[in-house]
Amino acid sequence: MPVQMETTTVPRFTETSPTGGEIQRPADARYRDIEVEVPAGDFDTTATRLLDLCRTAVVGDTVHLTGPEEELLRAAALLRENGFDDDEISLTCTTPGSPFSRPGARRVNCCHCRTVFTSEVVVGDQVTCPGCGRGLVVYHHFSRRTASYLAYMPEEES
Ligand SMILES: [Zn+2]
Repeated sequence: MPVQMETTTVPRFTETSPTGGEIQRPADARYRDIEVEVPAGDFDTTATRLLDLCRTAVVGDTVHLTGPEEELLRAAALLRENGFDDDEISLTCTTPGSPFSRPGARRVNCCHCRTVFTSEVVVGDQVTCPGCGRGLVVYHHFSRRTASYLAYMPEEES
């Protein structure tokens, strides 16, 4: 297909969601700071809402999620699966005493000794397992069951 001006411009944003609702986006908006409250015990509704949001998201959009720990982490995982980077997502955890009231904290699951611990890391970082002392690399694989990132020693990969 030959290059045409119509197809080389920035794609237009969808005006309506597949569920029929209007997606509100000012015509002159460059990017958005989106506040999403994640209710407890109703993740299906949250997921639908977030997927709608992902369909109109552009680079530079940021999402601030607020909610209880479990739903909050599942919501953040869903956004990451759909193209958001860690630094485009901020979390406010409403569960008292949760490690996720610290914005940079992630749960990490050591594949060697199954210790799950909380650390201020991003995917790709190295971290020492407090359970077995191995030097781990945090991988992108997020387990919803344990709400944690898998980490293992790269030397044992092969
Ligand atoms: Zn370990």
